[in-house]
Amino acid sequence: MSDVRVTTKGMRWWRTGHPWLYRDDIAKGDKSAAGDLVRVVGPAGDVLGQYFFNPASKIALRLVSRDEGFADRTVWEQRLRAALAYRQRVVRDSTAYRLIASEADGFPGLIVDRYGDVLVLQSTSLGIERILPILVDLLQEVVRPSAIVARHDVAIRRLEGLPRESKLLAGERPGPLEIQEGPCRFIVDVWAGQKTGWYLDQRENRQAAARYARGRALDMFAYQGGFACHLARSADSVVAVDSSVAAVAKIAEHATLNQLTNVTPVHAKAFDELKRLDRDSARFDVIVLDPPAFAKAKADVPAATRGYKELNLRALKLLTPGGHLITCSCSYNLDDAAFLDILRAAAADAGRTVRIVESRTQALDHPILLTLPESKYLKCVILEAV
Ligand code: SAH
Repeated sequence: MSDVRVTTKGMRWWRTGHPWLYRDDIAKGDKSAAGDLVRVVGPAGDVLGQYFFNPASKIALRLVSRDEGFADRTVWEQRLRAALAYRQRVVRDSTAYRLIASEADGFPGLIVDRYGDVLVLQSTSLGIERILPILVDLLQEVVRPSAIVARHDVAIRRLEGLPRESKLLAGERPGPLEIQEGPCRFIVDVWAGQKTGWYLDQRENRQAAARYARGRALDMFAYQGGFACHLARSADSVVAVDSSVAAVAKIAEHATLNQLTNVTPVHAKAFDELKRLDRDSARFDVIVLDPPAFAKAKADVPAATRGYKELNLRALKLLTPGGHLITCSCSYNLDDAAFLDILRAAAADAGRTVRIVESRTQALDHPILLTLPESKYLKCVILEAV
């Protein structure tokens, strides 16, 4: 294993416990090949750990282990078994969950989602990509899935110089899969759906939202109607809005599958629809806002802030007295405090007095690594208009 030496600045960063080291913090290491497991040393030669190395990426070094012992198949197997045991503890009443959540499970740049007996993986680091054959083998041995699919069509693979393609890695090519999530069932297309097919990170928030369901409900940015179906079990009616034709087409299917006749799918852009609803003096007792990340990069924050503010302001105006707003942001670049500031400004402009009844985050199968702030990205605040 070859050595990569980091600068004093890199060493200071390492002391914070963050599992990444950046290209700019490398002092010397050009002999190591991209994708290799390397030993990282500080300026004085002290060993900092083993890392995956990719000089082509801004995140040039990803921590594999702080120990000196080689990260072999046994180490990966232990981590996989630990990841599985953790899900068996925290996932309740659902056949779909994230089995491996990258660094938070000790697999830097690897996501594995489980839909019943089908696994869908996504590798976003060259180091993990190199050992995929070992990992696929282990997943088969430990989890015994009927298929393993790679959803490698994501743009961020480009940052690591990896090709974009979806393919079957093991087993039989799966068709649409039925999953169960609490009292609801859904059909997931692991080949064409957004993310790996389903927004697993919102599972617990969908069930939390259902506890406030009553009267007229609005599910804005509904995707395939996940929140909508959970709400519709207790609400009189649910309007579910999304701008993707493919996603909206599935909402009615999901309502039918769950024997719900009170869900109305609407194909529209959120801002247009919120304006239209206000013009029509429509009012809702429960509103869910779950937009895509407005701030994908730091530079987007000012524009994203305006976007979230406008969205929440419009939603608050549509809320009946005593109504509940379940409002989310999956922008890592906008932290909890910044999101609350936005909600505060929106409530002030809407002239509403609002209480925070729940402050939530991503589901427990998407663990948050304390030293990797990037692993906590989802905010879900439940507000009550008084
Ligand atoms: N709430 C969903 C996940 C939503 S993800 C769930 O629990 O499964 C964000 C959704 O917003 C995507 O489905 C995307 O198609 C949709 N979207 C993106 N831009 C939009 C816009 N301007 N108006 C309405 N929907 C939009």
